[in-house]
Amino acid sequence: MKRFFTAFFAILLISAAAVGGLCFMHVNAPVVIAEAPVIEAAGAACLPSSGHAVTKTLWGYGEKETFIEGNDADLGLVPGRGFDIAFSSSAADTINGPLTSDTDFETAKAGSPSYCRINLEKDGTTLLDGADPESYGLFEYSENGDYDLTVDLGYEPAKGLDETDYHYHISFTLRPEPSAQISSAEAPQGGIVTLKLDPAFYTEEPQISTELGSAIFISQSDGSWLSVIPVWYAQEPGDYPVDVTLGDWSFSETVTVTRTEFGRQDLTIASSTVASTRGAAGANEDYAEKIKPTYEMADPVQYWDGPFIMPVEGRITTQFGLYRYTNGSKTPTRHTGIDLAIAKGTPVPASNSGRVLFAGPVIISGNTVVIEHGGGLKTYYMHLDTVDVSAGDMVTKGDIIGTVGTTGYSTGPHLHFEVKIGSMSLDPWSLFDGTSGLYTFDSTMEEKQ
Ligand SMILES: [Zn+2]
Repeated sequence: MKRFFTAFFAILLISAAAVGGLCFMHVNAPVVIAEAPVIEAAGAACLPSSGHAVTKTLWGYGEKETFIEGNDADLGLVPGRGFDIAFSSSAADTINGPLTSDTDFETAKAGSPSYCRINLEKDGTTLLDGADPESYGLFEYSENGDYDLTVDLGYEPAKGLDETDYHYHISFTLRPEPSAQISSAEAPQGGIVTLKLDPAFYTEEPQISTELGSAIFISQSDGSWLSVIPVWYAQEPGDYPVDVTLGDWSFSETVTVTRTEFGRQDLTIASSTVASTRGAAGANEDYAEKIKPTYEMADPVQYWDGPFIMPVEGRITTQFGLYRYTNGSKTPTRHTGIDLAIAKGTPVPASNSGRVLFAGPVIISGNTVVIEHGGGLKTYYMHLDTVDVSAGDMVTKGDIIGTVGTTGYSTGPHLHFEVKIGSMSLDPWSLFDGTSGLYTFDSTMEEKQ
């Protein structure tokens, strides 16, 4: 920067020197006005309640001290569960010094407080005493009430010319209310709706009930609760209430079920196959005994991790929800999963992480594996050739659980893959492509896809 000298700057610097400290007359750039660091508390900008800011002069040693007082911040009602404090990075831009060159000035800009002490009181009781920002960040508020927060910032510059201290006092009332969000107010037949509940400081376990089907809450790592609600493929279109209670708080939301168009299939199956499976003595009882108990099993934890994977890349021989007319029958059955035709022996991975609830032979569905993914959401793998897991095993998404076969009520090697919550069969496709309501509140989805 070109140096020059004018009467204007002389007057400016003399006045600065009169208030502050030394002044060297070779200073020839505008005065840099010191600003007190601003603290952002729960999103509101707060100035120091007391302290002193030092105005430095670029290219010189002139300084002006400004005393600050009377900026106590009362933020009133804070509705969230936490109270975040952020320190403005520009706070130190103009308060470290002394500054004698461009280089010094740039270095000073990177300055930060040499200490920061945070005190927190609730109704006169000390909760934090001289905590650093990191310790404050680990502190979790756990009850409603009136709080007082004080922050002390100290700057100790290398040459000791402008020690600068700021004291902040911030009072606020923390009184969060529980809140619930639903992934979508409208859902197609075969879809999944999720409900996320922020319990505020309620410690009771929330309850959920809906005519749509079985649903439970599973706790999430951020302290919230999530419920996975089925919309059965044959659910009558219309409005269905979803009721949530949490202690003395309650919430009700309506889900509108919309119609999905499903196709039809005419199937001919050898009467001998029918006779040995569906028609076999005890086949229905066998299924009821082995598979139906899995319907109401639901682990109150989330095992699934990101999108479900399509277990095999087979040809789709029967779509989900299809109306199937077998051997000329006038009454259709519904196809509750997807059939993926592929060579016998093809490895079958777990579509997502979970707990194996059942693994073994069933007359109708052949060698079968059932995996609970949390919250009652399950996948079923049927007609397997071999089964490589056992009930009780924990599996990770992609682990091989068996191989494709044609066991049970089957006309050729294929995997019957099914998704259920309770007894409600659901459309697997939105779980594969990531568009399911299951993922609405999953903030990690983008990186996982
Ligand atoms: Zn099938």
